[in-house]
Formats: sequence, structure tokens, C-alpha cells
Amino acid sequence: MIVVQKFGGTSVKGTERLREVAKWVVENKNKGKKMIVVVSAPGGMTDSLIEKAKEINSNPRGRELDMLLSVGEQISAALLAMGIEELGEKAISFNGSQLDIRTNNDYNNAKILSIPSKKILDKLNDGYVVIVTGFQGIDSEGNTTTLGRGGSDTSAVAIGAAVGADKVEIYTDVDGVYTSDPRIVKKARKIKSISYDEMIEMADKGAKVLHCRSIELASKYEIPVELRSAFTWEEGTWIKKEKTMENSVVRGISNISNLANLRINLKNMEELVEHLEENHIEVKLFQQLENSKFSILTGKEEAQRFYKVLKNRGYFPELTDDLSMISVVGLGIASNNIPRKLTKILNLNEINIDSISSNQTSVSYVISQNKLNNANAIFHRELFE
Ligand code: ADP
Ligand code: ASP
Ligand code: MG
Repeated sequence: MIVVQKFGGTSVKGTERLREVAKWVVENKNKGKKMIVVVSAPGGMTDSLIEKAKEINSNPRGRELDMLLSVGEQISAALLAMGIEELGEKAISFNGSQLDIRTNNDYNNAKILSIPSKKILDKLNDGYVVIVTGFQGIDSEGNTTTLGRGGSDTSAVAIGAAVGADKVEIYTDVDGVYTSDPRIVKKARKIKSISYDEMIEMADKGAKVLHCRSIELASKYEIPVELRSAFTWEEGTWIKKEKTMENSVVRGISNISNLANLRINLKNMEELVEHLEENHIEVKLFQQLENSKFSILTGKEEAQRFYKVLKNRGYFPELTDDLSMISVVGLGIASNNIPRKLTKILNLNEINIDSISSNQTSVSYVISQNKLNNANAIFHRELFE
């Protein structure tokens, strides 16, 4: 049985934590499992590397940022290998380049194209624990690339797919996927198991507990994923293929904070899309208000940067700051009366709705940032308590 275990930043921050992880990995190996371990940078390191970059460059991105950010994962990988050797087991660490984890050259947000499995499988067969740096790969010219924030989850599932792993276990600082972010909603409940589609939607709508692309890959290759705690080690939440009839269940609530809206008059949509791509703006919600009037919802920092770009080009966008988005996720949610019920709840509680959007698996409300926690608590009470 081949198992991939991925450890996030807080799980590998500091020597004591690395020791605990090393013990857990060895325990699992001793049960006869072939162990691949994917690690993130020690908690906070990627953020502080970005801060460092900002000290010397006002808008760091591209190749050099990836050169810098890829370092954190290598520190965790090498230290964990040493920790496992200390326990008397064989371990070897690899970075993205050494394993030829091939990505496109979309620096800072690269997509994995291929992962050769031979080297990993050979080492597993020789009795090694194979440790791999998450979050990174190389492009066709050998330049280091990174996969976007939170991307180590995606590395873990991609490696699992490449070697035909039986399961991917993602270890973090919570013991499962909850009905809402447990840091925001104290009464949030742990979910036992959730379908790929619902988890993709939860992650896409802001539940950062898993990188959205990791579950897209897991779904494509039908690999079961379990999210677990690296602190209590107890059974977590399974994310897998689930058979459901037509009945819809509300699964969870997701949030995205610090958003802003830009309303802008432009000749046509192509022109706007061109500007967005050129300036690397990731749009959360796009609406055409009238013929040549568009509204885009994006991160606050991105919106402010884009606002300046547009102004310099002679446009007059309207910027609304301090927004957030709350989404309720569940299969088939849009085809029953839940969106109507939720809208009514917001109205009753005098929470203004800037805009509403929905698809088959979620309904989202853009509301003021300072109403987000309140809306979360109210929705959670109505739907889950
Ligand atoms: P790691 O560094 O291990 O990858 P992350 O910080 O990326 O960890 O993800 C774990 C965090 O995700 C938790 O601390 C929790 O606050 C947050 N989170 C957001 N939404 C949820 C949710 N629905 N269920 C559980 N955790 C959530
Ligand atoms: N270290 C990277 C980040 O902080 C990748 C990851 O942790 O998944 O975003
Ligand atoms: Mg993460």
C-alpha cells in the first residue's frame, strides 16, 4: 500500500513538531505502508519571504519570486529526512527539480504537467521514506516554479496520482473539514465525509483548509483524501466520491475576506479581459451591468492596484472597498428554496447584499466586511444548530 502524507506549515514548524511528524511517519512505515511525505515550508516562512521581497521590490513576482519562495519547502524536507534517519529509518528528500516535477511557466501560479514516478518508486522499493518538497516544480527550461499559495496540497495529490497511491492524507492544524471555518464560528462541526464536488466548491469559495486544485486532481484520479490533524492524529474528514440521490444537503459555509468591487465603463468585454490578464488580476465574480459597464469583484490589494492602472489609462472606475463574500455550499442547492431563505435571513438582520450569485453547488452573497462574522454566525445557527 502506497500512502502520501502531506504536512502543512504549522505541522512542521520547529524541531519538536518535526520530531513528532518523523515518529508518526516511521510508525506508519512499520505497519507495512510505503511512505511518501510531502512538506510545506515551516509555518510563516513563505509569508516572511514575501515580506522580504517587498522590502526591495514594490511588486515582487515572476521567476525570482519563485526562486525565493521555493526555499522554505527544502528546509522542511531536509530536516524531516534527518529526523527520520535519527529514528533509524532510511529517508531521502527531493526537491521539484530533482524529481523533474514539470509545470508550465506561469510563475507564482504554475500548473503541474507531469511527474515521473520511477525515481520515487525505486526508492520506496529500496525501503526509503521518500520526502518531497511541496509547492514547487520546474518548467521546460529548468526554471523553478511555484504552484500558488497553499499549493503543497496539490503537490501531494499530484504525486499520489503519479505513483498510483491508495490514499492521500493531508495533515494540518485542525482535525477535519468543518461546517464553517472553526476559527470564525466556534460552534462549527466536523464533517465526517464530503464529496469531491462539494469540497471543491467549499475551497473555491474560500475554505483555505485545502487547495482547490488538489481536490480537482483527486476527483479526476479518484484518489481518496483524508484531512487530519498533525496534533491529535485522530481520524479526520474523508473527501471522496459520494453517491447521492437528488436530495440536497447543506454542507458548509465558506468565506472570503478583504474583497473590493470595481465598476468600470469599457468599450467591450475583450478589452477588459485583456487588461485583467495583463495585470494578473484574479476575478472572484464578474458581472456585465449594462452594455459597456462591468463589475469585477477581486482582492482588495489587487483592486487598488488595478484601479491605479485603469486611472492612468484614462478610465474612471468606481471602487468599493471593504467587501467580503459568504457562500453556502451543498449539492443541488440552487434548485431548492435555500437561496430564498438565506436572502430573507440577511434582510431580516439588516445585512445589505451587494450582489448574489449561484450555481448548482453554492449560493454566494457579497456583503460588507464588517458584517461577515455576524452573517456567518446567523447562517450557521439557521442551517446547522
Ligand atoms: P496548512 O498550513 O496545514 O496547509 P492551512 O492554514 O492552509 O493549513 O489550513 C488550515 C486552516 O484552514 C485552519 O486553521 C482553519 O482555520 C482554516 N479553515 C477554513 N475553513 C475551514 C473549514 N471549513 N474547516 C476547517 N478548517 C478551515
Ligand atoms: N508554503 C506555501 C504557502 O505558504 C505552500 C503551502 O504551504 O502549501 O503558501
Ligand atoms: Mg494549506
